[in-house]
Amino acid sequence: KEHTLVLVKPDGFRRGLTGEILRRIESKGYVLKGLKIKQADRALLEEHYAEHRERPFFQGLIEYMSASPLVAIVVEGDRVIEGVRSLMGTTNPTLAAPGTIRGDLGRDWGTGQVENLVHGSDSTTSAIREIALWFPELEYH
Ligand code: ATP
Ligand code: MG
Repeated sequence: KEHTLVLVKPDGFRRGLTGEILRRIESKGYVLKGLKIKQADRALLEEHYAEHRERPFFQGLIEYMSASPLVAIVVEGDRVIEGVRSLMGTTNPTLAAPGTIRGDLGRDWGTGQVENLVHGSDSTTSAIREIALWFPELEYH
């Protein structure tokens, strides 16, 4: 079975949208295999977003993601990696399609600060790497 890592980012958890986001994922038929609330530290987030280290938004991204606790989830299902990306919508909430999590609920402050509520692994390689990083105690990697 395929697995993916989902994060309800600090803005989503703070706004009380964890249930709404999980409802969409579970209603689609995917199964939750691991779930925890975590205050992520800079080291973990720098590893998680290592591919973006040289990008101008990197420091802001680390601050956004470490500002308050988030929810980390392992989700299982057929083609779940692509499926969750589809439920999420595109990165910028202003452009994300209505009907998606980001399109319906995400906020773009117009200051370069994007609060897009949710992360989902973008490939099999990313999913394996990210699940090992956030859930070293699980064997779904
Ligand atoms: P995620 O990896 O969090 O699931 P994503 O795959 O849609 O999101 P990425 O390109 O991997 O998008 O960017 C990671 C995160 O960095 C985005 O979700 C967003 O929070 C932030 N980000 C990306 N691009 C920008 C940008 N141009 N300005 C501000 N923040 C950005
Ligand atoms: Mg990404």
